[in-house]
Amino acid sequence: MTLKAHYTWVTLPCCCCGSTSYKLLGYRGGAAHRNRIGIKTDIVRCSFCGHIYPRPMPVPDDIDMLYSDTEDYFSRNNPDKKIQVCDLLVDRLEKHLGYVGRLLDIGSGRGEMLYAAKKRGWDCCGVETCKEFADQSRSTYGVEVKNSPLENCHFPNNHFDAVILNVVIEHLHYPQKILSEINRISKDGTLLWIETSNEASLYHLIGNLYYRIIGKNWVTQLSPTFSPYHVQGFTKNSIKTLLSKTGFHIEYLRLYPGKAILPYSGFKEFVEYLGVTIVRSASKIFDMGRIVKVEARKVKAISI
Ligand SMILES: [Zn+2]
Repeated sequence: MTLKAHYTWVTLPCCCCGSTSYKLLGYRGGAAHRNRIGIKTDIVRCSFCGHIYPRPMPVPDDIDMLYSDTEDYFSRNNPDKKIQVCDLLVDRLEKHLGYVGRLLDIGSGRGEMLYAAKKRGWDCCGVETCKEFADQSRSTYGVEVKNSPLENCHFPNNHFDAVILNVVIEHLHYPQKILSEINRISKDGTLLWIETSNEASLYHLIGNLYYRIIGKNWVTQLSPTFSPYHVQGFTKNSIKTLLSKTGFHIEYLRLYPGKAILPYSGFKEFVEYLGVTIVRSASKIFDMGRIVKVEARKVKAISI
């Protein structure tokens, strides 16, 4: 289902280091997409920290327009499997924190993470700007969810023991503001878990090279105006830069190859699936996987 959103195009500096120096990588969306979806957008790389972002940035006038089709958005995710994965993550946080405390899940979606944490005794709360997702998670799992942007929730200072940004930060137009707010509502030593895409992966390198070979100035990074609406392209260096600037110290950072989810019902699809599988294996060898997982701790309060 395609929803028509209206965008305001804003020229922003790099959200990680603040630099306005950049190099144009290529174009994404519209005439620069093989299925012609979205709007053609310039994708650039920060000259200082390597962060990849659209310039100008398409900021939707109504963010809920992008994510209101809840069935479609999570159509590839099985809730029961997701609860199992969430349970493993909560278990990990418990071990590293040493106790069960107060947990915040930002962009809590259908609420599986909150359900997994609640079952283990956490005092947990979700923040979800999409009303449908918030309503669905409350009715399905009986969890507490605030249907509001984080900055409007007015949580107390030094409140949470663990904060989760699970495949969320790449969707944020102003991630530095969110991380500053997370810093304020976190205690000293609070654990912050982030999972996001690595836009400097081998997959992207090969994809962009392929476009150059066939004579196109397109890139494979981000999806600013079409699903899944990724607007921030983190790399190992750029996420480190952003977290350091917002008062967090990284204790764990690792790249993972990610899932190969292409269908392989026909010959062309099978060849594509094979190609993706080979790239996944190679990305392990070269440490250039598509997913980055980060565990960080709040080490200092910052002024907002
Ligand atoms: Zn930068």
